[in-house]
Amino acid sequence: MTRMLPYGRQSITEDDIAAVADVLRGDWLTTGPQVDAFEADLARWTGGVGVATVSNGTAALHVAYAAAGVGPGDEVVVPPMTFVATASSAVALGAKIVFADVDDETFCLDPAAAAAAVTSRTKVVSAVDYAGHPADYDALRQSMAGSDALLLADAAHSIGGTYHGRPVGSLADLTTFSFFPTKNLTTAEGGAVAALDPQILKRARRFRGVGMVRERDDLRYPDEGGWHQEVHEFGLNYRLPDVLCALGRSQLRRLAEFKARRTALVARYDEALADLDGVLPPTRRSWADPAWHLYPVRVLDGRRREVYDRMRAAGIGVQVNYIPVHWHPAFADLGYRRGSCPVAESFYSQQLSLPLYPGLSDADQDRVIDVLTAALRGSAVRSAA
Ligand SMILES: *Cc1c(COP(=O)(O)O)cnc(C)c1O
Repeated sequence: MTRMLPYGRQSITEDDIAAVADVLRGDWLTTGPQVDAFEADLARWTGGVGVATVSNGTAALHVAYAAAGVGPGDEVVVPPMTFVATASSAVALGAKIVFADVDDETFCLDPAAAAAAVTSRTKVVSAVDYAGHPADYDALRQSMAGSDALLLADAAHSIGGTYHGRPVGSLADLTTFSFFPTKNLTTAEGGAVAALDPQILKRARRFRGVGMVRERDDLRYPDEGGWHQEVHEFGLNYRLPDVLCALGRSQLRRLAEFKARRTALVARYDEALADLDGVLPPTRRSWADPAWHLYPVRVLDGRRREVYDRMRAAGIGVQVNYIPVHWHPAFADLGYRRGSCPVAESFYSQQLSLPLYPGLSDADQDRVIDVLTAALRGSAVRSAA
């Protein structure tokens, strides 16, 4: 039995390991010089927009919503075709989630659905760059005209991508990243928040650091003593340690290479799938240069589960991304109903993510394609290459 090919995985080199070991031998394990350096390196990818690192992508969302001032009684508009944290981190601040459906080609938040969901209570509209393809940010801005809500980009999939030539990280008021091992770069666990407004970035940094205020000019009791720090607004400890920031810096040096390999694999899949009946490849808008994180296909004729089971049995670790968020029992128990976002729900019933990561070889990819082809024919699939 060969090992299961995963749907995504990290790429770690000896340089990454050396970067981590160097920090372990030094004076700072957590907040030290690597944090500032990683944030500066990330800002080169966001077009200069300021970045605060945090301990994971869920924390990034929690920090971003807190920095946006989300609280009880506020509404946050979220598409259901995402990881649950895009919504649940706002629920943690007392917000009410308003689900808005996705468009039927990119499966990113549909600007028309967002416009219909915005009310006077909307604090944030959250778009998700599904699979690494950016949402239509200019259209989303228009759909929010007249509202003072902030636009958030959950870019857990899309760091390194561009929209009309503008980099992900510069497209929304707030952008969140995840550096989980399957994502476009990794720090094991890790994430970051980018914010256009320096005041919002400052608030994000404070929330990340237990709410501590240290800047003398901001202290309410500045003459208390050299040790003194104050909490003005409550926060949590969501710091990303120096050790992991060093890994992130090392990984970021290969982000362009990672993106190029992912793009090449996507082109190979597109070509192979063009001749295959019963399955549709992902689409790309002309204005998007995606940093593909997933390769999401649609399996037609109600055969997704069968194809999933056959491919898994043949050692191909396909995945489903995602169960519509409002179907999770925690949301169902709050009264959210199936059927409310038909495009996302229909897409979910067909969706299957094929393996995609920089270390996937052409030969392994060919095996994925062979197994998919056999599964669609309904024939038994050999489990070894
Ligand atoms: C991975 C992911 C997150 C959460 O990131 P973690 O680092 O796993 O907490 C949030 N949103 C989306 C769309 C993701 O894919």
